[in-house]
Amino acid sequence: MLFALVVYLLADLLLNLFGRANSISITYTEFDKQLNAGQVSQIYAKGDTIQGKLKSAQPKPDNGKGTYTDFTTQRPVFAQDNLWATLQSKGVVVDAEPVVKERSFLANLLISLAPMLVLVVLWLVIARRIGAAGGMGGLARKAPPKPVDPATDGRRTTFADVAGIDEVKAELTEVVDFLKHPEVYRRMGAKMPRGVLLAGPPGTGKTLLARAVAGEAGVPFFSASASEFIEMIVGVGASRVRELFAEARKLAPAIIFIDEIDTIGRARGSGSGMGGHDEREQTLNQILTEMDGFSGSEGVVVIAATNRAEVLDPALLRPGRFDRTVTVSPPDREGRRAILAIHTRGVPLAADVDLEQVARITPGMTGADLANLANEAALLAVKHGREQVGPREFSDALEKVQLGAARSLVMPPEERRRTAYHESGHALLGMLHPGADPVRKITIVPRGRALGVTLSTPDADRYSYTEEYLRSRIIGALGGMAAEQVVYGVITTGAESDLEQVTSIARGWPGAGG
Ligand code: ADP
Repeated sequence: MLFALVVYLLADLLLNLFGRANSISITYTEFDKQLNAGQVSQIYAKGDTIQGKLKSAQPKPDNGKGTYTDFTTQRPVFAQDNLWATLQSKGVVVDAEPVVKERSFLANLLISLAPMLVLVVLWLVIARRIGAAGGMGGLARKAPPKPVDPATDGRRTTFADVAGIDEVKAELTEVVDFLKHPEVYRRMGAKMPRGVLLAGPPGTGKTLLARAVAGEAGVPFFSASASEFIEMIVGVGASRVRELFAEARKLAPAIIFIDEIDTIGRARGSGSGMGGHDEREQTLNQILTEMDGFSGSEGVVVIAATNRAEVLDPALLRPGRFDRTVTVSPPDREGRRAILAIHTRGVPLAADVDLEQVARITPGMTGADLANLANEAALLAVKHGREQVGPREFSDALEKVQLGAARSLVMPPEERRRTAYHESGHALLGMLHPGADPVRKITIVPRGRALGVTLSTPDADRYSYTEEYLRSRIIGALGGMAAEQVVYGVITTGAESDLEQVTSIARGWPGAGG
């Protein structure tokens, strides 16, 4: 708007200066005529251009319509008339301006500064843009970090919201106690760990735990993701870290939670690709400096989370920094039951829903998976128009979560038959081979990428695997292909993912899915 206003004012000024509204352009002949008739009162000349005024309005020369008093005309260079003598004899006031006009000092200054001014304005605009999009160090500061409310659904998150990882809770209880009664520890001369590192696969509740610690202790909770610190501009991350810690100190005792610490805490010198390296290092150093700077009694505890503890820089794990590493693992059966109980607190469950049973058939699922399962079941109950969530909803939801959503693919009967043979092959071998996981479900409804699925899950959680078990997994996976071979004498591409799975089991167990 400011820009528009300036343009308007300038244009107005220029028009007023040069554009006489009722001034018309006339021929030199016409000018000569009016001059000789004694009509011209004054002229103003610049080079051969003459602007002038008549004593009284005269009819316009071209078509005679209307009159004019102001005019401009061009004097031909070859005109030999003694213009000056005529003007004098007619008593015309004559004014002139040099063809090349000397500009005033001020105008010169303004003109030479104009490009710089434009640049400065542009720069400010861009800086403001970047500032709005995420801050640019000291240039355009964004608001200082604020503690987030560690509450869910208007209630503070506490340890009651976390289940299945009791050993982890026990470790963190000490931190809570310290945050609640720092003076007891101070009197004892005991220093609290300044940082706690939560390591574990995604979805195991690391964020939830950090929130719960803040909730239990009743202290402000600052949350940041390490990837947020990394910007294009070097130095910004470090300044953000400084701000974050400064704010937390103001409100101490407090908890700072840094998620995905591995994005900046990766061992220095290890391959990290191009660019952003310095920035990563500076940010990490700033975090370490801030943590070293704690006197230990301020009551700021840093909790960091990572799902790749093995890549972390050893400097991070030194005493006085993240000296406590707590491993958060996927829950066991009892843990899964407790997590399901937490996430079905607000869900009307039918009497015949057995969470124990659901927990038994969901080995390997994390807290986040189970929360998702409970939610899917509730969604299905709404879709089915039920009053309560029954076992049917749970088993459908489990199918959806484990196998992917069913696709409404129209399959020709021949394909269905083939898929049925294929899946029975898996199931038969899975059931016949001793030590294999029991078969839970067989379907020829296409799901995800598969045309059919045979689902077998272990009865109890397994933490190590015998060779026999792995062999049985391979045999079971090859069953589908074998069945097609026996019945049709040919094998199809339907066995592709089975072969992939078998290969990954044979090559190295940890990579094997499903
Ligand atoms: P992470 O940070 O480890 O990736 P989150 O803490 O973000 O995992 O977990 C995501 C969600 O999963 C949580 O908000 C919670 O609803 C659920 N969840 C995970 N673990 C648990 C648990 N042990 N007890 C209860 N809920 C859990």
